[in-house]
Amino acid sequence: MSTAATPPDVPATDRPRTPYPFEAPASEELFARARAVTPGGVNSPVRAFGAVGGTPRFMTSARGPYLVDADGREYVDLVCSWGPMILGHAHPEVLEAVTAAASRGFSYGTPTPREVELAEEIVRRVEPVEQVRLVSSGTEAVMSAVRLARGATGRPLVVKFAGHYHGHVDALLASAGSGLATFALPDTPGVTGATTADTLVVPYNDPEALEAVFAEHGDRVAALVTEAAAGNMGVVPPRPGFTALMRRLTREHGALLVSDEVMTGFRLTAAGWYGLEGPQGADGAEGVHAGAPDLMTFGKVMGGGFPAAAFGGRADVMAQLAPNGPVYQAGTLSGNPVATAAGLATLQRCTPEVYAHLDATAERLSSAASAALADAGVPHTVSNAGSMFTVFFGPDVVHDYAGARSQDVQAYAAFFQSMLASGVHLPPSAFEAWFVSAALDDEAVGRVLEALPRAAQAAARAQSSVAGQTCT
Ligand SMILES: *Cc1c(COP(=O)(O)O)cnc(C)c1O
Repeated sequence: MSTAATPPDVPATDRPRTPYPFEAPASEELFARARAVTPGGVNSPVRAFGAVGGTPRFMTSARGPYLVDADGREYVDLVCSWGPMILGHAHPEVLEAVTAAASRGFSYGTPTPREVELAEEIVRRVEPVEQVRLVSSGTEAVMSAVRLARGATGRPLVVKFAGHYHGHVDALLASAGSGLATFALPDTPGVTGATTADTLVVPYNDPEALEAVFAEHGDRVAALVTEAAAGNMGVVPPRPGFTALMRRLTREHGALLVSDEVMTGFRLTAAGWYGLEGPQGADGAEGVHAGAPDLMTFGKVMGGGFPAAAFGGRADVMAQLAPNGPVYQAGTLSGNPVATAAGLATLQRCTPEVYAHLDATAERLSSAASAALADAGVPHTVSNAGSMFTVFFGPDVVHDYAGARSQDVQAYAAFFQSMLASGVHLPPSAFEAWFVSAALDDEAVGRVLEALPRAAQAAARAQSSVAGQTCT
């Protein structure tokens, strides 16, 4: 799961024990020091390489499509800080905007012109967003949107999908209880049953389950919260008609549809997943929101690598927020002048040409990965939402969390380690999206293509060693 993972899907005992394929003494030393002073040595769990084994690389610089670690080794970056670095690292014009902003002071605690410009840019790009409020993280954006939905509707319940990640919002760190239409159980210690008692979890892409939940609880549901296209269990887009069903059910039951585009927003198109799928399920009802989400959340790309995120949508719902309305929401660093400068400069350079380049690069990389795995006899499927894709290490097309979990994580770990040894930084978990940047040129893509056959062979050996164990 992105940056702050939900608890690992792989039980500790099943974790791959892949031998560390090459020396990284500086990272090893830093990791030891980090573990002494920081839990697990990291500030967000998935960075610890728990799911793939070995030592996480401590990066010291980044430029264009490359990261450089503490030992001076260079890697092609296919994580892009989990999405934000859509233009590549240290893009000269974004750097200039950031430097100029920082030279005028770091934070004022007052309104600033750039916040207006960034909000205008978001409203201009994403039609359903009439008003937007800036915050500092995706977690905060979703947390605030849920509070607003509850405040605006006066209802308690939130419906979410299994395998969807919305940041570490307490109420959404919840798994399905037993059976359909039952209330959720906490996913982690520290979240009380009382908190998740107002959360309902349903399987993704399952129309009957969603209808059942609304049939039973619809008049108490404040919001259905969904990843616009799931990216945090690996990329799993909504099946045709599923977004329309979400829109129809929420409208019929007077609940709000909250589309979480923290990962997909401004990455897949100028208007994120919404820009790809368009309005859905208006069924003759009028106005943009008849077929579009009521609220949307953004983060990652819109901060350009700095802490900036947002939630927005229907003006009448946003009017419920303080200071105009009764629903409280605030932030010391919200709309920070350096972060908004980075975000605005990034969005302004996300042109149609950039999106076309991302699409083409994702297609080149995913089809080459697929070809290499097929040559090596490794069962896999490529699942994509626009330029975001995941190579699932299993034979079946993935539509939901159960499907995502059925993949061969040992084979992925071996693949990952081989790619790392060849200087390619992939997501350190099989349950993540691969992220491309506009800085990936022929040279960088060529390095990835060159590394793939060997990694596919490593994956093949890892899966056959598991099969061998079951034979003996
Ligand atoms: C990353 C992510 C979040 C959380 O954002 P943070 O900035 O890590 O708090 C929320 N929702 C989705 C869909 C995400 O991908």
